[in-house]
Amino acid sequence: MPGLMGQMMQMPLMISSLIVHAARHFGDTEIVSKRAEGDIHRTDWKAAELRARKLAQALARLGCGPGDRVATLAWNGYRHLEIYYGASGSQLVCHTINPRLFPEQIAWIANDADDKVLCFDLTFLPLIEKLAPGLKTVKHFVLMTDRAHMPAQTGIPNLRCYEELVEAENGDYAWPEFDENTASSICYTSGTTGNPKGAVYSHRSTVLHAYASALPDSLGCAARDVILPVVPMFHVNAWGLPYSVPLVGAKLVFPGPHLDGKSLYELFEEEKVTFSAGVPTVWLGLITYAQQNKLKFSSFKRTVIGGSACPPAMMHTLEDEFGVEVIHAWGMTEMSPIGTVSKLKSKHDALDPQARHKLLEKQGRVVYGVDMMILDDNDKPLPWDGQASGNLVVRGPWVIDRYFQHSGSPLVRVDGRDWFPTGDVATIDADGFMQITDRSKDVIKSGGEWISSIDLENIAMAHPAVHEAAAIACRHPKWDERPLLVVVKKPNAEVTAQELLGFFEGRIAKWQIPDDIVFVSEIPHTATGKIQKLKLREQFKEHRLPGT
Ligand code: ADP
Repeated sequence: MPGLMGQMMQMPLMISSLIVHAARHFGDTEIVSKRAEGDIHRTDWKAAELRARKLAQALARLGCGPGDRVATLAWNGYRHLEIYYGASGSQLVCHTINPRLFPEQIAWIANDADDKVLCFDLTFLPLIEKLAPGLKTVKHFVLMTDRAHMPAQTGIPNLRCYEELVEAENGDYAWPEFDENTASSICYTSGTTGNPKGAVYSHRSTVLHAYASALPDSLGCAARDVILPVVPMFHVNAWGLPYSVPLVGAKLVFPGPHLDGKSLYELFEEEKVTFSAGVPTVWLGLITYAQQNKLKFSSFKRTVIGGSACPPAMMHTLEDEFGVEVIHAWGMTEMSPIGTVSKLKSKHDALDPQARHKLLEKQGRVVYGVDMMILDDNDKPLPWDGQASGNLVVRGPWVIDRYFQHSGSPLVRVDGRDWFPTGDVATIDADGFMQITDRSKDVIKSGGEWISSIDLENIAMAHPAVHEAAAIACRHPKWDERPLLVVVKKPNAEVTAQELLGFFEGRIAKWQIPDDIVFVSEIPHTATGKIQKLKLREQFKEHRLPGT
């Protein structure tokens, strides 16, 4: 027997409502894109919403119907934004593909997702020319450019011009309302182990995530911000920013493919960017460029860093040298992606600056909507004491409960509820601040004790001569595994392995200090800009640690 029912309107949470809101209340707020074509393009929320409607009409004219997948291989830009809304808003499913994956993986993903339309930036024309014959499900290839940039000749059958498709329509289109649990978009994990797996988001999950991520203790977006997502729109929907920015009505700036330090710096300054988001590796380039050229930022105030652990040394550089507040956040593709954000409580004002900073270096507190626990190997909940570390599990309305096209559930049942196992190992303190020790497959298991690769990397990164560092497990006859540190030095910096090992003394328990250090010119990264530990472990499989 239901009790008294609420008497509120039934309004499904629709993605289209976000851009409609921005168009109506922030119509003249700008969207600026540095295009793949090389120039700067300026539009606003009103014009973007109109073009999204025209695109919805064009996709219908191509024969797309509810549930059909519209894939993108594209950088961050206004056309990509129009596809987000034009496709999802008209009950199609926007499937963002990561162009940095291997071509075979891209083809595999497009086939797995059953993509019907593939929209791509000019940059990817040669790639698609090669892949097109293997993309069996794709009926329409759309080049995201104007007539002037269309190739005179191409092997791609019936290649269409995005601008012509859009401009042929009149925009006389009303966004439909339908079940808010309808699929809106798909994003595949980068598949460090096995084939990539798809996470299918819904209108409901996306709108709820947009609300939550805009909160002050979350990413904290506001109408007065100028927001530049460096994180790509193919990496978990640029962490939801293309949805939370119109929700608050901020100005949006897109860098296109121009992600080097110089291009980013210039765009930050020219457009007066206040807020940004990206993985640690992208900040390395920007920081190096600014330092080498003795530059400061005039408007840039805050950035979210996540996707992998933000080294405290990077936080300090951004904060102390550049006056940019770093907001450390944690999440994953399966979580839309936001899980936790590190923002202090008022009681932490009483702490000394160092202790305060230690908290900010953690991955942070959950945002409302996400619940988390840490479990031991028998799935028993562990205490929130900041010491016990265990397998991190989460639940919430923007957390997946299954993978696309996969039978079987990835969830674990604890205390009568379903939880998603993140594959991360973490501690949680009494104030709810979660700290990732490692991905479970990256922890270094030395004689039955665990060593956090993140701790070792964070220490190494604090050394002035270190540009980037990765700690990996190396086989050891006695201890099973011991840490090996792989280091890229800063340009023109000098440090020996012995000196760097000495730097660990007093900063970590003696038995956790790496057994050896190797210097390399480059560390491999995944398609989402994370250190590719699997590849490194493979590369150093035969490495003999000293004394073995
Ligand atoms: P992938 O790169 O595998 O496609 P995701 O981008 O979804 O997938 O990666 C999610 C994982 O990234 C998390 O499970 C966690 O291991 C790692 N991660 C994300 N943010 C952080 C962070 N702030 N600190 C440490 N690890 C992080």
